[in-house]
Amino acid sequence: MAKCEICGNKIDEVFLHKLVGTYVKDKKGKKHTLCNHCQEHVRTKEEQLKKL
Ligand SMILES: [Zn+2]
Repeated sequence: MAKCEICGNKIDEVFLHKLVGTYVKDKKGKKHTLCNHCQEHVRTKEEQLKKL
Protein backbone atom coordinates (compact mmCIF):
# COMPACT_ATOMS: atom_id res chain seq x y z
CA MET A 1 0.00 0.00 0.00
CA ALA A 2 1.20 3.48 -0.79
CA LYS A 3 2.24 5.86 1.94
CA CYS A 4 2.25 9.62 2.09
CA GLU A 5 5.87 10.71 2.04
CA ILE A 6 5.23 13.73 4.25
CA CYS A 7 3.11 12.42 7.12
CA GLY A 8 3.62 8.68 6.61
CA ASN A 9 -0.10 7.91 6.52
CA LYS A 10 -1.24 5.08 4.35
CA ILE A 11 -3.06 6.12 1.22
CA ASP A 12 -6.06 4.04 0.31
CA GLU A 13 -6.34 2.78 -3.20
CA VAL A 14 -9.62 3.04 -4.99
CA PHE A 15 -10.72 1.43 -8.22
CA LEU A 16 -8.12 0.56 -10.81
CA HIS A 17 -5.32 1.29 -8.35
CA LYS A 18 -5.86 4.98 -8.60
CA LEU A 19 -4.58 6.58 -5.43
CA VAL A 20 -6.64 8.75 -3.14
CA GLY A 21 -3.91 11.29 -3.12
CA THR A 22 -1.56 12.87 -5.54
CA TYR A 23 1.96 12.80 -6.86
CA VAL A 24 4.48 15.55 -6.82
CA LYS A 25 7.58 15.37 -8.99
CA ASP A 26 10.89 16.68 -7.76
CA LYS A 27 13.55 18.32 -9.90
CA LYS A 28 14.96 14.97 -10.90
CA GLY A 29 11.56 13.84 -12.09
CA LYS A 30 11.12 11.35 -9.26
CA LYS A 31 7.53 10.89 -8.14
CA HIS A 32 6.63 11.34 -4.49
CA THR A 33 3.29 10.32 -3.06
CA LEU A 34 1.20 12.72 -1.01
CA CYS A 35 -2.13 12.20 0.71
CA ASN A 36 -4.97 14.63 0.15
CA HIS A 37 -4.52 16.03 3.63
CA CYS A 38 -0.92 17.08 3.04
CA GLN A 39 -1.75 18.35 -0.40
CA GLU A 40 -4.39 20.63 1.10
CA HIS A 41 -2.21 21.89 3.91
CA VAL A 42 0.98 22.37 1.96
CA ARG A 43 -0.15 24.16 -1.11
CA THR A 44 2.96 24.96 -3.06
CA LYS A 45 5.03 22.33 -4.76
CA GLU A 46 8.20 23.88 -3.38
CA GLU A 47 7.01 23.49 0.20
CA GLN A 48 5.79 19.96 -0.42
CA LEU A 49 9.20 18.95 -1.72
CA LYS A 50 10.91 20.60 1.24
CA LYS A 51 8.91 18.46 3.64
CA LEU A 52 9.63 15.16 1.96
ZN1 LIG B 1 0.19 13.14 4.26
